[in-house]
Amino acid sequence: MHIGSMISGASNPFFSLEFFPPVDESQLPSFFNTAERLRILSPLFVSVTHGASGSQHRNTLAVTAELARRDFTCMPHLTCVGAEPGGIAQFLRELRAASVDNVLALRGDTPAWQSRSAEEHFKHAGDLVAFIRANAPDMGIGVAAYPAPHPESLTFTEDREYTAQKLRSGADFAVTQLFFDVREYENLVTSLRVRGVNTPVVPGILPIQSFDSLRRVLSMCGANIPGNFYLDLEEALRNGGEEALREAGLKFAVRQIRHLLDMGAPGIHLYTLNRSELCLRIADEAKLGRSKSNSSKTV
Ligand code: FAD
Repeated sequence: MHIGSMISGASNPFFSLEFFPPVDESQLPSFFNTAERLRILSPLFVSVTHGASGSQHRNTLAVTAELARRDFTCMPHLTCVGAEPGGIAQFLRELRAASVDNVLALRGDTPAWQSRSAEEHFKHAGDLVAFIRANAPDMGIGVAAYPAPHPESLTFTEDREYTAQKLRSGADFAVTQLFFDVREYENLVTSLRVRGVNTPVVPGILPIQSFDSLRRVLSMCGANIPGNFYLDLEEALRNGGEEALREAGLKFAVRQIRHLLDMGAPGIHLYTLNRSELCLRIADEAKLGRSKSNSSKTV
C-alpha cells in the first residue's frame, strides 16, 4: 500500500522509524531484534537509508526485503547522484520483487573523493521523482524536506520553492530532516501551503543518544540547534554525564513532539540510529504510538 494514502487515512498521529542497514552481516540479528522491539510502537512505516552515491545499496535492498517479509510497511531510500537510469530501474524492479511499494527519492551527496559531472542524468531529487513516476507508476514516492533549508540553498525562499517543485513533480509526501526548532517546521509547511502544495510533511525527530553522536549527526545534516538547548545539553553533560544528557534530550524531544502534533503534524518520524530504548521512552512519555493491547508491556 502507498504510504501517502496510509498517512492521509490515519485517524491518529503515528510514528514512523528510520533505520540504517548494518554493514556487517554479523550485526543483522541484533538489528532485527531492535526492529522487533520497536514494533510495539505500531510504526506506520519504516525506512532504510541508502549509502551515499548508491554505495552499499545491496544492504539497503536486503534489509528492506527482510523487514517487508516481517510485515513492516517499508520505504527504502534511493539516491540518484552519479546513478544511471538502468541502475535505478533495476533497483525499482528488485523492490517490486520483494513486494515493496514505496521509495524515498533523494539526490544524495557526491562523496568528497568524487566530483560531480555536468553530464549527470539525475541532477536533483525531482528528476528521480519524475523518472520513478514514468517507469514505475504504481510506486509510492516520498521525498526529503528541510525545516532549516538545505545547506546548499542560498535563501529560505529558494529552498522552499524547490521543495514545492519536487513535491509537485509527483511525490506523495515528504519526510523532514531532523530539526530542534518547531518554528522551522511550521515555516516549511506554511510556505508549501502558500504555494498550493498540500502534501503531508512528516517531521523527523532525533532522540539524542550521546554528545558525540549528536555532533556527528549535526556535522552531516546541517540542522540548527537552538543556543539555549545546546547550553542545557552541555550543562547536563557536565553535571550528570551522558545519562543526564540523554534525559535532557528526551524531555526536549517529547516537548517537540507534543508541540508538532498540536500544530497538526500527521505523525512523527524517529531517527532511531538503530537503537530502541530512547525511542520507546519517548513514545511512552509523549503517549503516542503504542497499541492499547501492548501499552502495559515493558521492553
Ligand atoms: P534535492 O531535493 O535535489 O535538493 C538538493 C539541493 O538542490 C537543495 O539545496 C535544493 O534546494 C536544490 N534544488 C532542488 N531542486 C532543484 C532544481 N530543480 N534546481 C536547482 N536547485 C534545486 N542521504 C543519503 O546519502 N542516504 C540516505 O539514505 C539519506 N536519507 C535522507 C533522508 C531524509 C529524510 C533526509 C531529509 C535526507 C536524507 N539524506 C540521505 C541526505 C540527502 O541525500 C542530502 O541532504 C542531499 O544533499 C540532498 O538530497 P535531496 O534529495 O534533498 O536533494
